[in-house]
Amino acid sequence: MYVKFWGTRGSIATSLPAEAIKQKIFQALEGAAGLNLADEAVLKRYMERLPFTIWGTAGGNTPCLEIRSGNQLLILDAGSGLRLLGLELMQNGFAEGNQRADLLITHTHWDHIHGFPFFRPAFIPHNHFTFHSPFPDLAERLAEQQQPNFFPVPLNYMSATLQFNTLAENQWYQLGNFKIYPMRLVHPGETYGYRIEAASSSLVWATDSEYKQVDWASTENYLNFFQNADLLVFDAQYSLSEVLDKPDWGHSSAIMGAEFASRAGVKKLALAHHDPTSSDEKIWSDREQAEAYLQRRQKNQPACEVLVAYDGLTLEL
Ligand SMILES: [Zn+2]
Ligand SMILES: [Zn+2]
Repeated sequence: MYVKFWGTRGSIATSLPAEAIKQKIFQALEGAAGLNLADEAVLKRYMERLPFTIWGTAGGNTPCLEIRSGNQLLILDAGSGLRLLGLELMQNGFAEGNQRADLLITHTHWDHIHGFPFFRPAFIPHNHFTFHSPFPDLAERLAEQQQPNFFPVPLNYMSATLQFNTLAENQWYQLGNFKIYPMRLVHPGETYGYRIEAASSSLVWATDSEYKQVDWASTENYLNFFQNADLLVFDAQYSLSEVLDKPDWGHSSAIMGAEFASRAGVKKLALAHHDPTSSDEKIWSDREQAEAYLQRRQKNQPACEVLVAYDGLTLEL
């Protein structure tokens, strides 16, 4: 299973302010003091050594994940990252039509659907998109977001064929090469996570969820859901202290992700749904804390790798 993160920010798309870019350039130049950067080989070696928080950023698009198995394309959530995935698909056959993909939707908060009106392949006749979600009224919800008061182009102007399939929670479904399993999560409104399996690999997408109790009875269903996953994409919007200050906001932390990853035997933990106010330094420092927590917790177990999910990250599972 191949995955690519197209959007990893939560709540609202967030661009990197000019001051933050300036600060990154300052740090890069500061670290190069004494080096002969006029020598291209030295410059390249220096660039290679720079930490990601200086040369890169977690990114600003809201949730969207591309998943591929064989020649099948599955898209998880339609946040603003979907716009960029759409542009890439247009370069790879979707501009000509007669292509298909499945979309899994966790819930219809704006940050998980507002990329769809900008998804170019959906404007091409004879492309075919099937939405899967536990919401029987998903078509109406998407049409609502494209009403003239909110968006200039109505849903029914999109020329591709759009199909809607309603799922029941806590059941496995076979979608071509993929097996998918929706489970209800604790988040304002109605929200689901998905476990996805293909060939021998497994992925759990649980980007919007709050976990108030960590006792066995309250967590058993999550532990089963996350069990031995090759990749767990976890809601790490807040730090642990912020979560305590924001009960019922429906989000979690990197440390909670580490706790679940350890107990469920997860192989890779990807921290995602970054808060719009979080700097790259804050996001990566939360990652370090989660990693340290796991190292203390997992002395005699195989280590779980902790990653920051960033826009553009690709993984082979
Ligand atoms: Zn969200
Ligand atoms: Zn949400």
